[in-house]
Amino acid sequence: MGIREPQTAEDEMAPNVFGNVVHKSLEKLYHANTHYDTVGLQKIKLQIEAVVSEIIISEYKSNQLQGSDIVTKEIICSLVEKVIDNDIKRAPLFIDALEKPINFEIKFNENETINITGSIDRLETTEEFDTIVDFKTGAAELHNDIEKFFSITKYKAAFQLMIYALALRQSNCKVAVYPLKQVGQGFQYLFDEKIVTKEQLELFEALLTKLVADIFDSAIPFAATKDLKKCDVCPFNSMCWRG
Ligand code: SF4
Repeated sequence: MGIREPQTAEDEMAPNVFGNVVHKSLEKLYHANTHYDTVGLQKIKLQIEAVVSEIIISEYKSNQLQGSDIVTKEIICSLVEKVIDNDIKRAPLFIDALEKPINFEIKFNENETINITGSIDRLETTEEFDTIVDFKTGAAELHNDIEKFFSITKYKAAFQLMIYALALRQSNCKVAVYPLKQVGQGFQYLFDEKIVTKEQLELFEALLTKLVADIFDSAIPFAATKDLKKCDVCPFNSMCWRG
């Protein structure tokens, strides 16, 4: 439908801005299609402060950092450093892609399809499997029951991971979130760190196709949720009549 989450100008470091700076810093510090060993990762750590400062200034401020921005910068630097330290513990590793675009179609009846697009924060590769990693600013709750991804909002991170796995369905994938609020714990895997199976992908695809078909079915009223708690965290509440 082409509806995207509304963007607002930011004067101060709101949580989503904070996460965005971390994302962009990691994207700049790491490179796609690159092997990383402990020595290489230690070298990256030397660039953290310069890269984080540059991104905060270029994205959100026009002048030098001052006041609370300096404290925020220090917190972001420390977070980024912990991500790199976790990678050092897991090294050597190969990062195949960063912010990898995905785009695939879901056919939900004879003649109708929708396009699903997005981007994968990090794709790591070994000879046996790929690992799709989605960085999260907050905490993320995972669950192994695919049907629940469609009915329980708090499992939206798992839903998102399965979208990515579906986009890369030809490869053996593990899927994980990386919640920055629990950065010390590193990757948190869906399905107990096992490769997503063909059966799991087929089930998810079937449920996703049904969901899309229901959304476009004119016989099913497009009613607002009755659960107002969902509206509190809905990214579209500023443009919704409920908002
Ligand atoms: S604000 Fe509530 S009713 Fe409106 S789109 Fe979001 S979840 Fe649905």
